Amino acid sequence: MAYTPPTPDDHDLVEAATRAIEARYKVGHHQIAAALRGGDGTVSLGVHLEASVGRASICAEAVALGGAVTAGLSDFETIVAVRHPAPTEAGGTIRVVPPCGLCRELLLDYAPDLHALLPAADGQVVRVRLTDLLPEKYVGTKWRTLSAHRDAGRRARDDVAL
Ligand SMILES: [Zn+2]
Repeated sequence: MAYTPPTPDDHDLVEAATRAIEARYKVGHHQIAAALRGGDGTVSLGVHLEASVGRASICAEAVALGGAVTAGLSDFETIVAVRHPAPTEAGGTIRVVPPCGLCRELLLDYAPDLHALLPAADGQVVRVRLTDLLPEKYVGTKWRTLSAHRDAGRRARDDVAL
């Protein structure tokens, strides 16, 4: 797996996600925030939505992606998620966390060239291609290949004027 150092824009992305969870943290409701940067530099934020039925919960990455798609953004470049410590974690700090497996699947459906920021052992972050985190992504009959899906997505965007 090829890790690379974060860019200055990546540090800004971590800061944006951190500000989001500082503003929206609510015990039992929102503990994770994500920031997704598009190729044009636009950043979409999302917080995770905890549900009373666990399986109904939605990850922050999915919320950020949904907001970005709704806003008409595409060609996503980098995503990061940060976790706010629970009240029981005395002295805890907001820290970068890797995307879960479901988010890796979802994000690669919409952003096959996406990079993610991961926590590094020294408290810093590193960049990695999301495909390196999910090398054998599920490819069903709906979207046979990632590139075919990406092309289909571009055609769909070209066909829809909001
Ligand atoms: Zn997730």
